[in-house]
Amino acid sequence: MPPHHGPAHDAVLCDVAVIGGGPAGAAAAALLAERGYRCLILERGYFPRYHIGESLIPHTYGTLSRLGLLPALRSSNYPVKHSVRFVSPDGKASQPFYFSETLEGERARTWQVLRSTFDTLCLDRARAMGAEIHFGAAADRVLFEDERAVGVRVVSEHAEAYDVRAQIVIDASGRAALLGRQLDLREPVAGLEKSSVWGYYRGARRREGIDAGETTIFSFRGGTGSGTSPCRTIWSAWVWSALRIGFSAPPPTSKGPSPTTSATTLRCRTSSAEPAGKDPSAESAGWRTATAGRWATAG
Ligand SMILES: Cc1cc2nc3c(=O)[nH]c(=O)nc-3n(C[C@H](O)[C@H](O)[C@H](O)COP(=O)(O)OP(=O)(O)OC[C@H]3O[C@@H](n4cnc5c(N)ncnc54)[C@H](O)[C@@H]3O)c2cc1C
Repeated sequence: MPPHHGPAHDAVLCDVAVIGGGPAGAAAAALLAERGYRCLILERGYFPRYHIGESLIPHTYGTLSRLGLLPALRSSNYPVKHSVRFVSPDGKASQPFYFSETLEGERARTWQVLRSTFDTLCLDRARAMGAEIHFGAAADRVLFEDERAVGVRVVSEHAEAYDVRAQIVIDASGRAALLGRQLDLREPVAGLEKSSVWGYYRGARRREGIDAGETTIFSFRGGTGSGTSPCRTIWSAWVWSALRIGFSAPPPTSKGPSPTTSATTLRCRTSSAEPAGKDPSAESAGWRTATAGRWATAG
């Protein structure tokens, strides 16, 4: 059942309000909608839109399968990625690390996607599974009553504010980290403060055969990493017909991470009574389920 306007306050009503229509928000909404929950995705932009982050890892296979996206990916033009190759600071290239060394079957490959089309594919899937999407809908803040999330204050592209009332709020706003900022949950992770620049190049020559879609990671010594561990990297990956090359390094300041350049990582702290991080496997999953506070983050 789609979300609807409630008679009392003219608020939009749903079971789950999802902030952000990237892959995390689309996946969360799709799977919840499939189970019969009325999900509303609030996306401030319009799709298709550009996004960095094209090189999938093979462990996305299970999620892509659950979402029913594998047929579309198989028939796509996205380069298939079977491996990663590392080039050490002295210029020595490793043998490719083929995912098939540790994974079986089709799980041992993934894709270098074009995020504009891939993210649209994910969002279309969420819609097909029953989620509703509001584009041009920027979440201003999560609404709380007695420390429980009860909805989202949204500002439309026409600068009109409206409220979405929901049983659960999922923040999937990516690096915007709406809820992380609102509740002051963000904590920098030592050693992960990085700036990145990247670009796309045509006309480069691809490797052949199974290596054509590989990601290559070049490491450099230096920076603030401990011991000899390299902490500056250049990464390259084929994205459709172009080669993406990027460079990551600590921010160009000795005074610590700046808010605009640091890759501040949101530690998903829950609002539940159970302290977060008790279960290490859950800690690394990038997911927290809402209990008492009725909110969760996904990304
Ligand atoms: C330099 C760089 C290189 C990367 N390379 C890779 C890579 O090669 N492979 C890889 O897997 N990942 C890569 N990533 C990471 C990848 O980009 C992210 O992991 C991925 O996009 C996260 O998806 P998401 O759905 O959580 O967030 P996003 O894809 O960022 O989606 C968040 C959505 O929320 C919307 N939004 C934000 N704020 C609001 C708001 N207030 N209201 C409404 N909507 C809002 C945004 O418009 C956006 O559409 C890279 C990241 C960076 C910075």
